[in-house]
Amino acid sequence: MDIIELGDDVISGTRRALARAITLVESQRADHRVQAGQLLDYVGQAGRQALRIGLSGTPGVGKSTFIESFGLMLTGLGLRVAVLAVDPSSRRSGGSILGDKTRMDRLSRDPNAYIRPSPSQTKLGGVAQRSRDAVALCEAAGFDVVLIETVGVGQSETMVAEMSDLFLLLLAPAGGDELQGIKRGIMEIADIILVNKADGDLKPAAMRTCADYTGALRLLRKRKRDPDGFPRAMTVSALEDSGLDQVWADIQALISWRRDQGYWDMQRAEQARSWFVEEVRQGLLAQIETPGLLRDRMLQLGDEVARGQSSAAGAAAKLLELVKTPDESLDAGPGTA
Ligand code: GDP
Repeated sequence: MDIIELGDDVISGTRRALARAITLVESQRADHRVQAGQLLDYVGQAGRQALRIGLSGTPGVGKSTFIESFGLMLTGLGLRVAVLAVDPSSRRSGGSILGDKTRMDRLSRDPNAYIRPSPSQTKLGGVAQRSRDAVALCEAAGFDVVLIETVGVGQSETMVAEMSDLFLLLLAPAGGDELQGIKRGIMEIADIILVNKADGDLKPAAMRTCADYTGALRLLRKRKRDPDGFPRAMTVSALEDSGLDQVWADIQALISWRRDQGYWDMQRAEQARSWFVEEVRQGLLAQIETPGLLRDRMLQLGDEVARGQSSAAGAAAKLLELVKTPDESLDAGPGTA
């Protein structure tokens, strides 16, 4: 396939080209990985940036309802919105539950919105890697906002936070007056906590829950990258579209402050660097796991370790010796003065 042509079509905002491009970056085939790298380099030259918003919440909390309402509000403001999902469980549970278009029917029919379900891979790390590439493609395609949805399970929030400019945590009103079983870690990565379903009978409980979280957030150590008043908790109703304009106003206030302070650029640079390191790490692992001499040797050394003939450390050192590149070949490489 012609990568330059595909790249140009992505940049011109052709939806089918974007879909094809995302399929390409999601592929694990070695030749596709090379093409994906070329494509990402090419479209990256367009220098476009979207606002990347991570969003997490347990099933049933109202993520799809929120994304639909919030997304439609944004497109109503003339913005183009992409929705991507990072789903750690898509394979095991036999079917993706995130980023499913039927969950966001009206938004999926909006010409200024694009919804893409989670790539289907067994490893969460792989899903996250490919989703980062999809985010970059959506940026190149000229979307103003990229919403990255995930469920409240294990590592997925951290991974989504690492590819986002800011992170929203969606909660439901608690029954009692104690905090829900939210791990401290996720509270620490949230920039805005949204207590959803603040409507009808649930409204008083939502207000209480919000007050509880406001109190809990005050106890967290102040982060350098936050202006006064952040992270914050607020109530919304995705169903009744209430509070969503305030969410958008708060997001913009936070982001413009971070831009002014230089934290936006700093965070993007750090994320890009760790993204690169992660790609290399995964690539090296894939190289060892690909059928071939290296993998044969690894299996062989594994047997020796299992039989007690070799220590794990000793066998690993032997294998790594085989992967090592002589320093001379690096000297001649590009980028050296
Ligand atoms: P998800 O699994 O997190 O995507 O949750 P959904 O968006 O599918 O919502 C789960 C249920 O909660 C559905 O029955 C929604 O209608 C309901 N729901 C979502 N948002 C609200 C809200 O703001 N208020 C009320 N009362 N119900 C809501």
